[in-house]
Amino acid sequence: MKLAAEYAEEASVAVCAAAPPVANVRPDPGTRADEIYMGQVRQEYLAALPIAAAMVVADGPVMRLLCTNSRFLSLSLDAPPEQAGALGRIANAVIEGAVRNCFADQEEVLEFDWYDVDEIGGGHFFVRLVRLPLRTDNRQRCLLTLVDRTAEITNERSLRNEMLRDSLTGLPNRIAFSQTLEAAIGSPENDGQFAVLVIDLCRFSRINESMGPAAADELIVNVARRMLSSLRAGDTLARIGGDEFAVLLRLIDGPGDALHAARRIQQALSTPFRLSELEIRIDCAIGCAMMSDRVSGSENLVRNAQVALKRAKCSRRVEVYQPGEISAAWRRFSLETELRRAIENDQLGLAFQPLIDLQTGAVAGFEALARWTHAERGAISPLEFIPVAEESGLIVPLGRWALEAATRTLAAWDRQAGQTMPIGMAVNLSAIQLARDDIGAVVAGALERNAICGHRLTLELTESAIVGDPERSARALGSLKELSAKLAMDDFGTGYSSLASLQRLPIDELKIDRSFVTGMLGDRDSLAIVRAVLGLAEALGMGTVAEGIETSELADALAELGCFYGQGYHFARPLTSEDAFAYWAARNC
Ligand code: C2E
Ligand code: MG
Ligand code: MG
Repeated sequence: MKLAAEYAEEASVAVCAAAPPVANVRPDPGTRADEIYMGQVRQEYLAALPIAAAMVVADGPVMRLLCTNSRFLSLSLDAPPEQAGALGRIANAVIEGAVRNCFADQEEVLEFDWYDVDEIGGGHFFVRLVRLPLRTDNRQRCLLTLVDRTAEITNERSLRNEMLRDSLTGLPNRIAFSQTLEAAIGSPENDGQFAVLVIDLCRFSRINESMGPAAADELIVNVARRMLSSLRAGDTLARIGGDEFAVLLRLIDGPGDALHAARRIQQALSTPFRLSELEIRIDCAIGCAMMSDRVSGSENLVRNAQVALKRAKCSRRVEVYQPGEISAAWRRFSLETELRRAIENDQLGLAFQPLIDLQTGAVAGFEALARWTHAERGAISPLEFIPVAEESGLIVPLGRWALEAATRTLAAWDRQAGQTMPIGMAVNLSAIQLARDDIGAVVAGALERNAICGHRLTLELTESAIVGDPERSARALGSLKELSAKLAMDDFGTGYSSLASLQRLPIDELKIDRSFVTGMLGDRDSLAIVRAVLGLAEALGMGTVAEGIETSELADALAELGCFYGQGYHFARPLTSEDAFAYWAARNC
């Protein structure tokens, strides 16, 4: 208790942390005995406090510690004698200045956070000064308390550091990368001369699935190492997603630097990685965005690079962001939000385009085509909103709705005709529906609810539906066949389906794409393709439908070539439900 003894000496009243017993009866006020008694009472209260506390008194210009508790003393806040303020060695100049302010201020309470730079390792304190009411001696007093927050702040700091680091690779993570980028954008030295690369590892999820997360983690660590070794000093590599990395590059010799860096990264990853017994080759796609005056904020720069990355995934080249790309992406995004709402609020409709038997001219059925009339933008083509629906997954509810609405319409027509009409309904199915929805159950439900026989329903698929996951699509198509539904291959000739899969899958009909049909009379190549498709369909025992018949000559020529059915503006454009029924009735009565 050396310090306590020293302070007791300095203080006007003898005080020590381990206070002597306090008398039960207060001596006469104003006497020396009473002063000692009061000092002991104060000491007793301070000692009971769980935090460091001291009472300070102003003796003219001199500040003195009237009493302290042991926690206060244990803080050893004493500054070296040459720096010690009027409070003595226990408090440094910051605290002393604060006490003076407290006495001079109108405010009765003064609170602040204080970092004790003088102490080795530093200490963080929450300081509170409360001015006490004046007593008869007219000397100002205040209660000084200090809460030691050093451990809390140190924890907070290390937590923050953890939060800025990717725990697997030790690289900065997305938040840290944004901060670094923000600092680079704000720094006048940079002069806007930098670029961001976003690198995505192709097929990584497959590796993860087939080799397990531990091997995938090892691969990520090795990829990070190689990428780091391909960069120049001063460039920043970060891991901003599971298999997504970002690089902040200084452009010393202009924009070409970014492309050189991208090539170096590709090169670094080009040698296969060894994982246990296996050699794994990893490709990467790289999108780049250059810093320009028009880009504000780090998030925008990363987002621009990600937009370019999306293109790079298709083109397999390093792609640089082009201004304006975001607005197209934004339109798609806002379309997605509005499409979601339109589906929820039942604001989509169906149009029905007749399918004509080219040999007899009879109406064989209708193709149901989705229609969306936006309150402000007017009619939006399915060529625009179907891809948005597919990309966002909205195609699943949209497709369910179309199936339900088409079968419901056919049932309503039957009722109106007073008979089961000798026509079918064709509904388009997206590859995504086949992959994600339980399509067999969905179709069965729609047929059952509307009491429609399966053989009256044709489902039009595009070739992409069977390319992605042949096993799963074979199973899905099998379940549709069990319902007696027909399957048509839409836009045939524009996709990549192999003859083998055509033969293996239960396809009933080929729909020859409009691009071959419309110009076939003036273009020998198109004619040759149409003939070949008709021959192929015949060989495989499939029916045929020609799309896009705009003239009677085309209809006649296709009939002569042996095409079964036709569809196109020559017969009718897509019609409303009422007009479609009337179209059928006019030709059938
Ligand atoms: P699709 O299934 O090949 O439908 C035929 C498209 O060709 C329709 O365009 C139709 O209006 C158009 N068409 C028909 N005859 C002619 C013609 O003589 N000349 C010209 N120039 N065009 C003709 P639409 O309605 O714009 O639909 C475009 C595509 O959107 C459809 O192509 C289909 O792939 C997709 N789609 C439409 N509704 C749905 C749907 O409910 N679900 C899915 N998954 N896709 C749909
Ligand atoms: Mg179609
Ligand atoms: Mg088509």
